Amino acid sequence: MVERYVAARGVTDARVLQAMREVPRHLFVPSLVASKAYGPGALPIGGKQTISQPYIVGRMIELLELTGKEKVLEIGTGTGYQAVVLSKLCAKVFSIERLNELALRAAELIREMKIYNATVKVFDGTYGWSDQAPFDRIIVAAAAPSVPEPLVQQLARTGKLVIPIGPAGNQRLARVTRAGTGVKIEDCGSAEFVPLVGRFGWKE
Ligand code: SAH
Repeated sequence: MVERYVAARGVTDARVLQAMREVPRHLFVPSLVASKAYGPGALPIGGKQTISQPYIVGRMIELLELTGKEKVLEIGTGTGYQAVVLSKLCAKVFSIERLNELALRAAELIREMKIYNATVKVFDGTYGWSDQAPFDRIIVAAAAPSVPEPLVQQLARTGKLVIPIGPAGNQRLARVTRAGTGVKIEDCGSAEFVPLVGRFGWKE
C-alpha cells in the first residue's frame, strides 16, 4: 500500500513512509471493508464518516515536517489510524473526536496497541485543546469553512497547521503558519474530506 499508493503518488519523507508501513491499517477499519484496508481509497467507518485515503494521510503528515520532538493536536480522530501514525513521528499526540462512539473505539485500540503517547478526548475540536496549548503542529482531518480562529491561537509561534478548507466537492488543502499578528496560508492542492462540524466549523 505504502509503495503503490503513497510513495508512487509523491510522498517522499522517509520517516512518514516508514511509520505508515508499521501501522496495520486493517485493525482500524470495520470488518465489512477489511479486505480493502490496503487499497487506495477512503473507507466508511460508521457515523457517516470515513478513514482518509492512505495517500492524503501521508501527504498531510509530510506537510507537518515532523522531527520527533513535537506536540501535535489532531482534530478528527475517526478510527485512530492517523493518530497512531503520528504517534510514531512526534513526541505527543492530542486527538479530538466529536462522535463518542468513534472516540471510544479509537482510544481502546490505541491502548491495545500499547501506544502511550497519544490521548483521545470527545469534544468539539474547533475549540482546540486549550489546556494543552500551544501545539507545535495541528492537523485537521475534516474540512472547515475557514481556518478556526482558536486553532491559530493555540499554534506555537513557529508551528504549522494543516487543514482542508472548503465545501464538499471544492476543497483545498492549506498549510497555515503564523506571521507576525496574522497568518500565512499555502495552497497544497485539492482535497476531499467530510465536513468539520462545530462552533468554528460548519453548523450541524
Ligand atoms: N483521521 C481519521 C479520519 C477522520 S474522518 C482516521 O485516521 O481514521 C473525520 C473525523 O472528524 C470524523 O470522525 C468526524 O466525526 C470528525 N469531526 C468532524 N467535526 C469535528 C469536530 N468539530 N471536532 C472533532 N472531530 C470532528
